[in-house]
Amino acid sequence: METGIKEKIAENLKRIKGNIAEACLRSRRDPLQVRLIAVTKTVDVNIIRTLLELEQLDLAESRVQQLIERHAIIRESISKHLILPDIAPVQKPVVPRWHMIGHLQRNKVKQLLPLVEHIHSVDSLRLAEEINTASARLGLNDKVKIFLEVNTSQEKQKYGLAVGAVTALAEQVETLPNLQIVGLMTMAPLTDDQDICRFCFARLREIFEEIRGEKICGPYFQHLSMGMSQDYVAAVEEGATMVRIGAAIFS
Ligand SMILES: *Cc1c(COP(=O)(O)O)cnc(C)c1O
Repeated sequence: METGIKEKIAENLKRIKGNIAEACLRSRRDPLQVRLIAVTKTVDVNIIRTLLELEQLDLAESRVQQLIERHAIIRESISKHLILPDIAPVQKPVVPRWHMIGHLQRNKVKQLLPLVEHIHSVDSLRLAEEINTASARLGLNDKVKIFLEVNTSQEKQKYGLAVGAVTALAEQVETLPNLQIVGLMTMAPLTDDQDICRFCFARLREIFEEIRGEKICGPYFQHLSMGMSQDYVAAVEEGATMVRIGAAIFS
């Protein structure tokens, strides 16, 4: 790894965290409530090692196959002590947390489940049921932590639930014993207009508060996964607890 690249990434992470902290200040939030997830779908696996050395442990992929491959490579690197954090005074074990953020097909669920911390992209009862059954078959101890993905921009080509369908699905998914809905996820449209993005984030928060107010989900329902490179500041101001950022970390 060229040191230049590593320094660049370290600088970008620092700048992004600074922007998040400022957005939190403006909206009277605690910066510790916002988790930065590095979206590694477009970068080489070497860059993932660099992120881990910089103690950026939350990683996201949007394709199951790529997540599986990289999970295996990184696990091997860690077991061979090829990844050691730079910063920690005492060497701690590196434990990455993998997030699945892309569209998920039901036939891929079983392979994915043992590897991920969160699935951000659940948008149908059939998929939720598949996750529930697969978890039972695999004998997983912990409930699978999922987000319901909402199409807040109502663009036809996008994945995610229609705004009006979220509450009903949350009620149905809550009856499945092996799942835990930890929050809601959305993607704003690709636009430079921050007001449009902010509107989508505010809408997600409204749905979130409605579900919480009606006590449809349990106390673990706490998260808003929203905000990418172009719009994460607005997302944090609107209440994001997880931002998913790729380009801004790597460019
Ligand atoms: C690619 C992707 C991101 C990150 O996008 P950037 O613009 O690179 O920050 C976030 N969320 C999802 C679901 C993605 O597919």
